[in-house]
Amino acid sequence: MIRKLFSRVFKRGSAAPAATSSLATIAVAQHGIHREHVSSAARRTCEALQKAGHKAYVVGGAVRDLIAGIVPKDYDIATDATPDQVRAVFRRSRIIGRRFQIVHVMFGAETLEVSTFRAAHDVDTVKDEHGRVLRDNVWGNMAEDAARRDFTVNALYYDPATEIVHDYHHGVADLQQKTLRMIGEPRTRYREDPVRMLRAVRLAAKLGLTLDPAVSAPIREMAELMENVPAARLFDEMLKLLFSGHAVNAVHRLREAGLHHGLLPLLDVILEQPLGEKFVLLALESTDERVRAGKTLSPGYLFATLLWHEVLANWEARKARGEISMPALYEAMDEVLDIQAEKLAITRRVAGDIKDIWALQPRFEKRAGKTPYRLIEQPRFRAGYDFLALRAESGEIETEVADWWRDFQNADGPGREALLIPDSGPKKRRRRVRSKKPGETVQIAEITAD
Ligand code: ATP
Ligand code: MG
Repeated sequence: MIRKLFSRVFKRGSAAPAATSSLATIAVAQHGIHREHVSSAARRTCEALQKAGHKAYVVGGAVRDLIAGIVPKDYDIATDATPDQVRAVFRRSRIIGRRFQIVHVMFGAETLEVSTFRAAHDVDTVKDEHGRVLRDNVWGNMAEDAARRDFTVNALYYDPATEIVHDYHHGVADLQQKTLRMIGEPRTRYREDPVRMLRAVRLAAKLGLTLDPAVSAPIREMAELMENVPAARLFDEMLKLLFSGHAVNAVHRLREAGLHHGLLPLLDVILEQPLGEKFVLLALESTDERVRAGKTLSPGYLFATLLWHEVLANWEARKARGEISMPALYEAMDEVLDIQAEKLAITRRVAGDIKDIWALQPRFEKRAGKTPYRLIEQPRFRAGYDFLALRAESGEIETEVADWWRDFQNADGPGREALLIPDSGPKKRRRRVRSKKPGETVQIAEITAD
């Protein structure tokens, strides 16, 4: 028995067949999660369900993160109680979702997601023509629920009462060996839900795991299945990736995996262009720093950076066709956002924030008269200025413009007056624009500030 376990833990080659389920109960000495590490809301939710005669465990990402020494963002609970039974146990709870009902349980500021064990897929499972699962709403037992999850490290069930981890797919060993392994046959699991390709890359970046070759190998050829994923779902996953605190790492890994096409122009075109790449990586680095420092983040700002070089290219092309500068910029902004809307469900509010930041950019060119005073009062000035500074840092524009605005903000009344540049009609400013083809040297174009 010990030999069997030993060989299972240490000898499972990367070409191992689909993980088969065999329950291991793992004690605290091996996994290290003491009940005090779990949020009190998650603990109390499990206790209350168990007291009412149900099974209840902390499951998924939270268990994985706790073992890896990361503080979980949120907690999911899995139970054998039906949504109605869960509802009956907690006064502050409500059933959400139509396709597969789950219950939100509120404890103070914390909300826990409680879901009933799901059954394995069977012949009745509704799929689209590519094999993507469209509907399934059958409840099952814990082993079936575990088999439905994506990666072995995500199929761990922790009972705060006993401090035992129930592990059906060797997830604890995989986590300790820093391997991300799929439950079941990766190709089949990607066909059921192509978002798992994105999740594989995101989770590996977050946890510093290596993708099992069986997990990484099919991604390049199956990446196009992402096209069938509903935009809202893709947007959620992309936001998780970009705001994970490991965005730079994740983006590099997406590229390595061959998954950067069709997700965002950021990953599609820009990363292949020297200037755009520098700009995007700087933006992602500062996002990662902010996440790690626990600061707030605006999706609008980040998406404005990711799509900026698309807007620039579109804008330059319009001006080259003789369109007038400002209207051309607005047309370019709309066109780029419309293309994205097909892939990513950017909300109206976020789209508004993005456009505000872009529209401010040419206005920074004016450093005469009353304009700078008016600009600095704009509600989006700070975001617009940060964006300008990033453009300068990436080499897209001269640093002198960004430095000027920094000085203007910091100066007092007379200081600001002294900084103003006398207006001498439309100014020509030299500006670098990115080259049109990868590998081509950077071209310098003239643009007129208006
Ligand atoms: P994060 O730390 O970013 O929240 P997570 O793994 O917890 O990562 P969630 O989206 O919160 O991600 O999902 C919770 C759990 O649900 C996962 O750990 C996994 O067990 C299961 N799960 C999520 N998405 C899928 C999927 N596409 N296919 C199978 N199981 C999934
Ligand atoms: Mg989670």
